[in-house]
Amino acid sequence: MSFRAYLRNHPDEKGYYGEYGGVFLPPELEEAFTEITQAYQTICHSAQFINELRRIRREFQGRPTPVYHCERLSKKLGGAQIYLKREDLNHSGAHKLNHCMGEALLAKYMGKKKIIAETGAGQHGVALATAAAFFGLECEIHMGEVDIAKQAPNVTRMKILGAKVIPVSTGLKALKEAVDSAFESYAKSYKDSIYCIGSALGPHPFPLMVRDFQMVIGQESREQFLEMTGLLPDAICACVGGGSNAIGMFIPFLNDPVDIYGVEPLGRGEKIGDHAATMSYGSKGTLHGFVSQVLMNEDGSPAPVYSVASGLDYPSVGPEHAYLRDVGRIHYTSATDEEAVDAFFKLSRYEGIIPALESSHAVAFAMRYAKEKKTGAILVNLSGRGDKDVDYVVEHYGYGDNYMKF
Ligand SMILES: *Cc1c(COP(=O)(O)O)cnc(C)c1O
Repeated sequence: MSFRAYLRNHPDEKGYYGEYGGVFLPPELEEAFTEITQAYQTICHSAQFINELRRIRREFQGRPTPVYHCERLSKKLGGAQIYLKREDLNHSGAHKLNHCMGEALLAKYMGKKKIIAETGAGQHGVALATAAAFFGLECEIHMGEVDIAKQAPNVTRMKILGAKVIPVSTGLKALKEAVDSAFESYAKSYKDSIYCIGSALGPHPFPLMVRDFQMVIGQESREQFLEMTGLLPDAICACVGGGSNAIGMFIPFLNDPVDIYGVEPLGRGEKIGDHAATMSYGSKGTLHGFVSQVLMNEDGSPAPVYSVASGLDYPSVGPEHAYLRDVGRIHYTSATDEEAVDAFFKLSRYEGIIPALESSHAVAFAMRYAKEKKTGAILVNLSGRGDKDVDYVVEHYGYGDNYMKF
């Protein structure tokens, strides 16, 4: 199937990728989601919308972000060459702004005044608050009280950017309750507001919209890598939490002779509650309004998840990932906390780039790959920068002197 034909047929008109995806919503939200689907399907084809988004990416976000050859690190490993797509240099320090600017621009075209979302670690909240400030939209971020206490710097950033942070005090006071609270607020106010999801998941059309907005990563890096080396990479990889940076990186390479690897967090190990490696340990289920692979307890409820990288600890994954795994196009693998921290320090010391702990999982896999394959090249999507993680890392792992051996 050609690349265009793949995009045309995935998802199908009901929002399915094979047996995954779809829309499972309480009746009070159905009308709101239908409105978003219809608006997106017209607006995303308008030349005006496309050109405005292009201009924003260039002038505000600082795109295109570069592709960089890690010569020193590759030499140390002695095998395949490692290249990075530098999404850490995207404005606000990670890939999340790519879809937040798209979602907020859609809100503007739909005539909405307010954007609503939940956030866990606070990264999505900060990116969305940035987009809201750019467009002059109101921004309402729902966040569990436990997360508010843990992620104080991100809460401060959101407030400086003018967002209203709504503390959620029900249940475990964390991400799941924040999702419920955001949906409740949206159901009451969808006439003049829009809900903005934080990854390539949720009910249709969100997995589609977020993929489309994030595809700029793969499109740019494919072109840049070809220009740099005259070839395509042998392999590409990205970390997978919900799957937005990965799907954006992967889709433009789908029809190329390139091996594709999604890297999930194996945390402290294989026991349930110690990781968030959905593709390795999950099964088919429905969570938060869509069908995908889900990490479940024996009774079928969503399992507790853990990773040193808080942006990766979600007990499911975007539906398109589950589909592309089942059809055999994308391989899913994992990296532990310890491997991610090792990659965090090595990339810092050998290349002068402090990566986000999430992105460090992808770097850890690339280092494994480079050691195994004697030749060739692997292109890693470096989804974000590690400034947000340095205090935690130093407290728990020191300054990295023990991590310099290869
Ligand atoms: C949020 C986040 C992720 C995980 O989200 P995806 O939707 O899986 O991309 C990865 N890296 C960084 C830097 C993040 O902030």
